[in-house]
Amino acid sequence: MKDPNCIFCKIIDGEIPSYKIIETERTFSFLDINPIAEGHSLVIPKHHAQKLHEVPDEYLSEILVVAKQIASKLGVANYNLLQNNGRLAHQEVDHVHFHLIPKTSEEDGLNYRFKPLSKEHVDLEKVHKKLV
Ligand code: 5GP
Ligand code: ZN
Repeated sequence: MKDPNCIFCKIIDGEIPSYKIIETERTFSFLDINPIAEGHSLVIPKHHAQKLHEVPDEYLSEILVVAKQIASKLGVANYNLLQNNGRLAHQEVDHVHFHLIPKTSEEDGLNYRFKPLSKEHVDLEKVHKKLV
């Protein structure tokens, strides 16, 4: 499935140029145009969907394999795999994409810290019931 207005669909079709890395039957990968670390790459399914849960399984299953191959090619010891869904979660391009981001120094790459919720706002039992 394609969206004619989507920049990543256009990249898959070659309408917008990119530094392609690996292409498979159901995935495409290329260098991010605004890297936050050298080698910052994107892996996308060849199926237009905004969010992860909307992507058919057969398109998702190849993505981690390709991310693994890029990580090996880059030869970096430290890296993050990031996938944003929705504006609040910092998604800017509405075609599912996985960022592979080398972490070569404290400054480069992904900079974040988990900030755990305070204990009074956490009810693991309740959440768990919803999920099983
Ligand atoms: P998001 O914030 O949606 O998770 O990340 C979108 C990413 O896509 C950004 O890192 C941005 O630099 C990258 N990007 C946006 N437009 C283009 C483009 O036309 N070509 C390439 N190669 N990357 C793009
Ligand atoms: Zn698209």
